[in-house]
Amino acid sequence: MPGAARWGTRAGFASVRRMTRPRVLVLHVGGTIGMVRTPRGYAPDPGFLAAFMARMPELTHPDLPAWDLEVLEPLRDSADFSPDDWLRIANAVAAREGDYDGFVVLHGTDTMAYTASALSFLLDGLSKPVILTGSQLSLVHPRSDGREHIVTSILLAATCRVPEVTIYFRSRLLRGNRAQKIQSDDFLAFDSGNLPPLGQVGVSIRIARHLVRAPGPGLSAPIVLDRRPHVVAVRIFPGITAEVLDAILAPPTAGAVLETYGAGNFPSAQADLLAAVERAVRRGVVVVNCSQCHGGAVRQDLYSTGRALAEAGVESGHDMTPEAALTKLYYLLGTCDDPGAARDRLGRDLAGELTTSTAA
Ligand code: ASP
Repeated sequence: MPGAARWGTRAGFASVRRMTRPRVLVLHVGGTIGMVRTPRGYAPDPGFLAAFMARMPELTHPDLPAWDLEVLEPLRDSADFSPDDWLRIANAVAAREGDYDGFVVLHGTDTMAYTASALSFLLDGLSKPVILTGSQLSLVHPRSDGREHIVTSILLAATCRVPEVTIYFRSRLLRGNRAQKIQSDDFLAFDSGNLPPLGQVGVSIRIARHLVRAPGPGLSAPIVLDRRPHVVAVRIFPGITAEVLDAILAPPTAGAVLETYGAGNFPSAQADLLAAVERAVRRGVVVVNCSQCHGGAVRQDLYSTGRALAEAGVESGHDMTPEAALTKLYYLLGTCDDPGAARDRLGRDLAGELTTSTAA
């Protein structure tokens, strides 16, 4: 048939036979990958990435899907991102979900784990891959890690059949709401301590099918939040005082992630600290307990220091990352009219962000 293409990938990857080449939308939202050197340090440049990608021969290779690039201005260093940015990315995907086989979001690494987590909740019903990637070194640098990230992400977005929000970085495809930035210098910048990679990219590309979530029915746009809740993350440390905790948990705070020690332990011998948490819970603040550790789960039944939090009305964050817990709180408090319903959904697995069987 005219225009028919046998289209596939290299060794070990499911090949796809289609009448037309699959198509991927690349959304550029900011980050080092598309930054240029300026007198004030690296900063985003709206024209740079399109010009650079147009000169990459890999991107016109017949084995690669077709792709379009859309620059979602204003381009930002991801350190400047806010929930409005999560929403504009979510809506850009939702508006075009039917037009593309997959999406690549070129994003800064600093808050990529937050955006990926937030998108996993906002894109409820997602049926296509959404892959966030970026780089540690800008494309202006000869040793940039960005080139391979762009090429492989575009390939994976069209072929990997992982209809989730993921992060592709340094040869690994990680579930986005399980990932954390673990390195500011090494090229291996992300890891997911509580879930093996969904994909490993070497000479062959291997997808851990048993871990991949089923596709949803599709998105409905526009994605809106009914309110913008005030949520906080508090890292517990030796010497934290009740006055500080009271101030952080005071109105308008509606939700809080307590980043505790180890398996969810809190300095419970400090009665005034625990009382500050209890007061907040009584006021209706939804408080969730997450570990400061990169791997492992909160077990509020394991130590008396964790049990004290459970008795104070704190929800277990199970094995969620603080990034996932914070964005989930934001999403739930922004969409549920009833804080009780938000509290209930917090402990449920909404987008693969937690495993409840291992945790109390
Ligand atoms: N500050 C940059 C950002 O997050 C860092 C990066 O992209 O690697 O946008």
